[in-house]
Amino acid sequence: VLIDSSEIDRDDTIDCDVCIVGAGAAGITVARRFLPHRARVVLLESGGADFEPHIQALAQGSNEGLPYYDLADSRLRFFGGTTAIWGGRSTPMDDIDFRARPWVPHSGWPLSPGDLAPWYAQARQTLELPDLGPAEAVCAKLGIAAPPFDRDRLRIGFWQFDQQPGRFALERCDDLRRSANVAIITHATVTHIQAARGSGAVLHVEVADPGGQRARVRARYFVLAAGGLENARLMLHAADVQPHGLGNDRDLVGRFFMEHPHARGGRVVTSEPWKLLRWFAVAHWLDGRRVSLCLRPGEAIQEHRQGLNTSFALACRQHPDDALPLAARLYRYARHRLPPSRSNRRLWIALKRNMRRLQTRADPLRPWLQTVLGRRGLYAVLRAEQAPDPASRVRLGEDRDSLGMRRLCLDWRLSELDRHGARVAMEALDAELRRLRLGRLEFAPWLREPGGGWEFDPLISSHPIAGFHHMGTTRMAHHCASGVIDPDCRVFGFDNLYVAGSSVFPTGGWANPTLTLLALSLRLAEHLAGRCERAATAVLDDPGAARGRTRGAAPDL
Ligand SMILES: Cc1cc2nc3c(=O)[nH]c(=O)nc-3n(C[C@H](O)[C@H](O)[C@H](O)COP(=O)(O)OP(=O)(O)OC[C@H]3O[C@@H](n4cnc5c(N)ncnc54)[C@H](O)[C@@H]3O)c2cc1C
Repeated sequence: VLIDSSEIDRDDTIDCDVCIVGAGAAGITVARRFLPHRARVVLLESGGADFEPHIQALAQGSNEGLPYYDLADSRLRFFGGTTAIWGGRSTPMDDIDFRARPWVPHSGWPLSPGDLAPWYAQARQTLELPDLGPAEAVCAKLGIAAPPFDRDRLRIGFWQFDQQPGRFALERCDDLRRSANVAIITHATVTHIQAARGSGAVLHVEVADPGGQRARVRARYFVLAAGGLENARLMLHAADVQPHGLGNDRDLVGRFFMEHPHARGGRVVTSEPWKLLRWFAVAHWLDGRRVSLCLRPGEAIQEHRQGLNTSFALACRQHPDDALPLAARLYRYARHRLPPSRSNRRLWIALKRNMRRLQTRADPLRPWLQTVLGRRGLYAVLRAEQAPDPASRVRLGEDRDSLGMRRLCLDWRLSELDRHGARVAMEALDAELRRLRLGRLEFAPWLREPGGGWEFDPLISSHPIAGFHHMGTTRMAHHCASGVIDPDCRVFGFDNLYVAGSSVFPTGGWANPTLTLLALSLRLAEHLAGRCERAATAVLDDPGAARGRTRGAAPDL
């Protein structure tokens, strides 16, 4: 069922079994598990079917840390969430990402790779991505005789791409719209989470329509799926029962904000530019599907040099002092200055598709020519792991949005360990290029001496700062002393409050987050479905226990 908040009476109370806050990839994936199911599910979405400037403005915030994108520009507030503009780049995390690495403070997931494996398989199905096996198998299928890197030093990784733009758009969610037990409520922004005093349970959430008219949704279980920043904001903002915010007794909510920072790692000086470009710098196609290769330091060198799981691509790029070319300036203008309306999104997608088509036809000849003529160079483009750091954080600022919620203030920080991780990755590349007599790396100046900061480079990517990946602000842990949620994604201290999305990641590796957050959402949904089943069975066994739970007007599901 699809309902707009304007159809709900002021001060109405809606009852359901599962209330999901946010209809992005995470929230939609949790809701889909309940198709069909006897549990009644309400999916609350702040926006409507598409971009609306006054709704998007609810995501505005301020920045007091490293340079970052405008917060309102880095996620989307309408049904389908940020996947309306994402790049679709998908890869699972590596085994090392789950491990507690003694040299990386606060590292280690309370889940093993095996715990997530079945959910990764389902997440791939969600995005229609085949399981291609390890990178070596991908290279073999592509017919690439990749260099025999010493795997202790350098490993090959790869991305697949979701090829379906707008996969989570409202018009593609007919299954949810038609379902009898799921109610999607659009233009319903959750502005408060009401917890019971002393009982460790959430009672209801308050929902506002764009005009500020309020209603309540009461549920047995609540899932926050509002995005990597808004999950923390909602928890911090609910400070009436617990003065520092829900689940924030230990001041961990909002901390450990992580991104995948981008940078220029160095210039590859090589006598074999054709080979390196053909392997690593161009898009490949496998059964009509795009695949890109990248590199990362091997586990042994990470351990030996105390580095991070930082990835990098080899790419033909302008030299550091060059001017940004007109085509890139136009793309950036279109991407960052035009609002993400449906027509503008179509424009970006068309621009990207056409540029890629042209590139694919001209690759690797065009970049090879540019490289040998010296007009451009072959550079290592870092997409780094950021180590978890409690000082890198979001908190509530003093300004409020039009619905009265305090806006977020981002204080993003990168540490010497992050810079060192980038340096270790570049050392591994240099060593392997030399060993295999393929050339050497000229390190970027900012990586030559320890102690400098992170150097962003506007010429390195159309997303020059980082990947728009918001991770860590409600991190998962075994124990409430070191995290906000437990391995079931339940907020410590609460029986019925859960979190879905990349805010739960304890570390971020190099993998783009969406495939992993989908896997975690599928796992959480299974856990919740099990709880709903058990609760329903208990009610059948003891009908008296259920009485009084259905006060208020339930939506006509
Ligand atoms: C330009 C760009 C490119 C990207 N490329 C990639 C990529 O290639 N690969 C990758 O893995 N990731 C990529 N990402 C990141 C990816 O988009 C996110 O990881 C993913 O969309 C997060 O999904 P989510 O459901 O957790 O959050 P979101 O997509 O942010 O969805 C949250 C939803 O909750 C709603 N909401 C928020 N607050 C409230 C509230 N108070 N009440 C009710 N509803 C609320 C929002 O309106 C939104 O619909 C990219 C991001 C950007 C911006």
